[in-house]
Amino acid sequence: MTDDCIFCRIIQGKAPARIVFQDEEVTAFWDVAPRTPVHLLIVPNRHIDSLNQLEAVAAALMGRLCLTAARLAAEQGISASGYRLVINTGIDAGQSVSHLHLHLLGGRHMPVFFG
Ligand code: 5GP
Ligand code: ZN
Repeated sequence: MTDDCIFCRIIQGKAPARIVFQDEEVTAFWDVAPRTPVHLLIVPNRHIDSLNQLEAVAAALMGRLCLTAARLAAEQGISASGYRLVINTGIDAGQSVSHLHLHLLGGRHMPVFFG
């Protein structure tokens, strides 16, 4: 946990957010500037800068993040209509918050996107 990381502050309850799920390893909350009708961020409670810093021992953590995303998609009613998970990593991908996060996007049709 670092105090200068906005997502760590949200996880710790020190900054406001619309949290939809939290357990001992994972927190999920609404993106402050949603791009789609459903736009949630799913993050590990432990600070990890990006996918580049993920260690092999954290493979199970990624599984938990994905399972949480799938469950939240079901809760939001978009399992059947479809959704997209995005992990921006580094400058070229436009990562703007250096705390690993999955974007869960859905609720409208999204064009195929490869760059
Ligand atoms: P990135 O560009 O790093 O993949 O995504 C960062 C996301 O975090 C952006 O979609 C941005 O809107 C969101 N975000 C940035 N600051 C905050 C905040 O303070 N609260 C919430 N809920 N979302 C944030
Ligand atoms: Zn952090």
